[in-house]
Amino acid sequence: MLPFQYHRAEDAETALQLLQQSGAMALAGGTSLLDLMKLGVETPPHVVDIRDLPWKEITADSSTIAVGALCSNAYVADHPLVGRHFPAVSQSILSGASGQIRNMATVGGNILQRTRCPYFRSSGWACNKRDPGSGCSAAIGYHDPHAVLGVSDACIAVYPSDLAVAFTAADASVVLASQTGERTLSLTDFLLRPASTPHLETRLQHGELIKAVVLPLPGAPRKGRYLKLRNRAAFAFATVSVAASLTIEGAKVVHAALALGGVGTVPWRSKQAEDQLIGRELSDDAVESFCDTLLAGAAPADATHYKLRMARGAVRRILRELEQDQ
Ligand code: SF4
Repeated sequence: MLPFQYHRAEDAETALQLLQQSGAMALAGGTSLLDLMKLGVETPPHVVDIRDLPWKEITADSSTIAVGALCSNAYVADHPLVGRHFPAVSQSILSGASGQIRNMATVGGNILQRTRCPYFRSSGWACNKRDPGSGCSAAIGYHDPHAVLGVSDACIAVYPSDLAVAFTAADASVVLASQTGERTLSLTDFLLRPASTPHLETRLQHGELIKAVVLPLPGAPRKGRYLKLRNRAAFAFATVSVAASLTIEGAKVVHAALALGGVGTVPWRSKQAEDQLIGRELSDDAVESFCDTLLAGAAPADATHYKLRMARGAVRRILRELEQDQ
């Protein structure tokens, strides 16, 4: 780990001021950044500890729930408002990491966590995400767990967060704070596909912090689930995951929202596929055509074709389970 200067900010104003320093990075729970610093992947000259900022509450009004970016993952998973209105969010956290990590990890840090691509995390390998223009070792090397959707010639790394997949299915927005004020972006717009610049993963600008995640409240609680498939029955990153909510009235689908994890360079959702389901019975044909549209444009390699079969199976399963829940 290279030497760095540690600053502990007492309030948001101080934190945003300290983050103006060249190369400064924010430290919240430390479950991601510290690992990357030990590996030499992140080498910030200034680390700004933001744990004392007050963004640790979940609040609600008549139309939204706002989750403070410094809420611990454990607090969010156990919160009654989240459990009642967004069960997939709770389930995604509980499937994502051990209790110790859930107690430390924050919502903002979870969204900003970086890929588990082994070449990214080992400084001896070419990696466009870590070292722009150096090449992509995964493209010619081991890439079985990598992405099949949203990939580019420059990078095929999977986006790792479970929570962000559930947030995406819940139409989440992120509130970003800076010295010049606040702005709000949908999470879908906030997270970037790699294209030719895989080192740019989000629209977060230098000196900005995620302040909160806002979830629009449905009129009535919806049935929702998070399904995570992984290669061992312990805390591991998703091979394929699905967050979904579904409402069926009079045998017809009136609401459907579904996002995939483990298969894309960002959480993967298709409003076009969801619209196809509305007003239809949840027949096998309807589910298969939903999957066709959701997975259209996939670019699997020989070693990653299995992900498309797994994703299709996971979508079928979660939709049938949600149908049973109605
Ligand atoms: Fe780097 Fe992306 Fe290639 Fe992995 S897949 S080596 S993160 S450029």
